[in-house]
Amino acid sequence: MRRAVVLLLTLVACAHHLRVVRDLGAYQRAAQLDPDQRLVEITSIPTDVRYATSNNFMHTPLYPTARVFLRAPAARALEDVERDLAPRGLGLKVFDGYRPYSVTVRMWEPIKNPDFVADPAKGSRHNRGAAVDLTLIDLKTGAELAMPTPYDDFTPRARQDFNDLAPEVMANRATLREAMTRHGFDPLPSEWWHFDYRGWERFDLLDIPFAAF
Ligand SMILES: [Zn+2]
Repeated sequence: MRRAVVLLLTLVACAHHLRVVRDLGAYQRAAQLDPDQRLVEITSIPTDVRYATSNNFMHTPLYPTARVFLRAPAARALEDVERDLAPRGLGLKVFDGYRPYSVTVRMWEPIKNPDFVADPAKGSRHNRGAAVDLTLIDLKTGAELAMPTPYDDFTPRARQDFNDLAPEVMANRATLREAMTRHGFDPLPSEWWHFDYRGWERFDLLDIPFAAF
């Protein structure tokens, strides 16, 4: 009985600590009060949403549709990055943006390493619509530029400070990092493809399915 009470108190404490918005109406009211809270679909930048296919580390589709959403200011900043890169013949290809909280819970199970998947106890900045996974492409051919690893390669080679790389690969990673940093995104040390939008704290964790938008 005492153990049950302790467990219950722990659950209450965790639930209190981690606020996850699951109600579409609550999201809509917040977005009406503050348009920055709106999730905006990324349609002007090429995407390859691996989590909508079996071609991902879970080997099964996690999203019902291949769509990418970000909070409005992060979406605008990403368009600025795209404009910044274009004169150099470069563009972006986006792998992931907003991710419903329940998907983060599913992803945690097989990996359980916070360097590569977010611990559901904290939630992911993807759950806030304030993180994006992406790479660089050649605007003319659409081909991805050479990067240290494929997307979602959970090895030390994916780290921003891994430098045993060909000079061209180092330069490509730096080009992406510098363009993103200039427009309000911070790199994640363990994944070259992941960037957090500065000020992510002001966006709630959401668990609202794509179909709602
Ligand atoms: Zn990410």
